[in-house]
Amino acid sequence: MTTVLPELTLTARDVYKLLNDSPFGLLTYGRTVGSNTDAFSFAVHTGIINYTVPPNCRCGIAMRLGRRADRNQNSYQGLQWECGSYSNGRRCRHTSSITVGTFFDDVKLPWVKVLDLCIHWFFKTPVVSAAHQVGVSKGSAIDWYGFCREICYNIIDEMDICIGGQGFHVEIDETHLFQRKYNRGRQLAFSHVWVFGGICRETKEAFEQVVPDRSGRTLWPIIMRKIHPGSIILTDSARVYASLHEASRGGYEHYAVNHRRHFVDPANPNIHTNTVERQWGLLKGMVKGCMNEEKVEMYLGEFIYRRQFFTTLNVVEARTLGKQFDTFLGHMKKLYPGL
Ligand SMILES: [Zn+2]
Repeated sequence: MTTVLPELTLTARDVYKLLNDSPFGLLTYGRTVGSNTDAFSFAVHTGIINYTVPPNCRCGIAMRLGRRADRNQNSYQGLQWECGSYSNGRRCRHTSSITVGTFFDDVKLPWVKVLDLCIHWFFKTPVVSAAHQVGVSKGSAIDWYGFCREICYNIIDEMDICIGGQGFHVEIDETHLFQRKYNRGRQLAFSHVWVFGGICRETKEAFEQVVPDRSGRTLWPIIMRKIHPGSIILTDSARVYASLHEASRGGYEHYAVNHRRHFVDPANPNIHTNTVERQWGLLKGMVKGCMNEEKVEMYLGEFIYRRQFFTTLNVVEARTLGKQFDTFLGHMKKLYPGL
């Protein structure tokens, strides 16, 4: 049995250049990664699939690369790991696809289209337009946008963000996301989702999460888990926040602005919740396209992820966009490492 190596049309340097040179965009990407073999090379050099480090077979022997008889050259799904070792006069016939456990596991679309959809998602192309440009069904585009969003959600979920600190100002607030949806009778119906969140004015670190209600029983454990003790917390005058300063509850310093009277405390212009409310505005813009109540958390994950990794504290420059996309690929690899 001979090892079959796939053709690599791009070098590691090509891919490095693409992701690190300025500008990085749909055009520069499309010029470099224009075919399936390019897409395969891109996936290999960015590490989102691996065919150079053979996994061990369950019999303990390192496997080798081979081709499946029913190979689908179009997408390189035909490559497989093969064992083929002999023990006690019997040959181990165990095989597995090189894509098992990767982002490309069991992918039906050509890889070049999958990566194109990821790039369009990264650049926030509206999903219907992305489907049209890539040449796939709207359903496929929606699926792959969803998978990208899932990566965001999982990475953010793992991070368990905690913000603020001694003397830092943290604004917290809740907001109500309205969602239009049609029920069976084609009548307009609304579903309601509450989101609770906070942002640190000094560090710009923030958290948001979907909550079932706005009761103290729901919000208090989140406040204590997400905000460092000693933080100065700013809220509106909702009753649930009234006991924030109590030492038994994290020892926060607390100031409230009464929104019924004014949005900024006239006696102390520091006391307002404008920063967190700006986040609500941005969040609502992003969740607008989400018609499914259960998927709100995924959209919220994407919102937090983009803020965390794509718009760093510095101004977003074209030359950093490739690196941002590379960060996303790194997270893809982390969550879908393969065998
Ligand atoms: Zn084996």
